[in-house]
Amino acid sequence: MKLKETLLFTQHDSIDYNYDEIGDEHVSSSLETPIREDAFEISDNKKKEIIADHFKGIMETLGLDLNDDSLMGTPHRVAKMYVDEIFNGLNPKNKPKIALFENKYQYNEMLVEKNITFYSNCEHHFVPIIGKAHVSYISSGKVIGLSKINRIVEYFAKRPQVQERLTNQIGNELKEILETEDVAVIIDAKHLCVSSRGIKDDTSTTTTSYYSGKFKNKSTKKELHHYLSS
Ligand SMILES: [Zn+2]
Repeated sequence: MKLKETLLFTQHDSIDYNYDEIGDEHVSSSLETPIREDAFEISDNKKKEIIADHFKGIMETLGLDLNDDSLMGTPHRVAKMYVDEIFNGLNPKNKPKIALFENKYQYNEMLVEKNITFYSNCEHHFVPIIGKAHVSYISSGKVIGLSKINRIVEYFAKRPQVQERLTNQIGNELKEILETEDVAVIIDAKHLCVSSRGIKDDTSTTTTSYYSGKFKNKSTKKELHHYLSS
């Protein structure tokens, strides 16, 4: 079934597992975001139109009166927010363009950028994941502007996500861009689907990590952890 058809007609596939269970266990199915081949065959504007229509349906089903001044514009606002903001990392055209520089200072030690705040959304509940990413790499001769690391984190965060995949996607991307194996990513995040609903645990956070190349060595890892805790 083509994307347009799926979007316009709700399809009920047979379900042979428990959605609730899968959702709360936060199982990640693959490293790649499960995206359809025809994901970008329709324009952003058309997507907004279709999403607004569907969201209107959700609100109406909940019993809300869309004639109310305050609610009237919500379907359109949500659609615009999904496509232009919180899920715009789905579209490869929004991937940040990264320029590499020669490592002129011959700085061959570990570089750590910590506490990069990001906002993502859990792909199982579509509620926020709010966290901090700590990123580190050892230059192989190339460096990138520090703000570009923030942009890469932001790009992958702006997708429906699971934290494990977000961590790996950032790590893999940095490896590719920086042309080095020596990359580490640590993410500490709060999942609103855990704190604001379900088990309602407001104090727990989840930590995930990605260590590649030299960061697999105990001493390198220890050095990184030292910087993160200071
Ligand atoms: Zn969730």
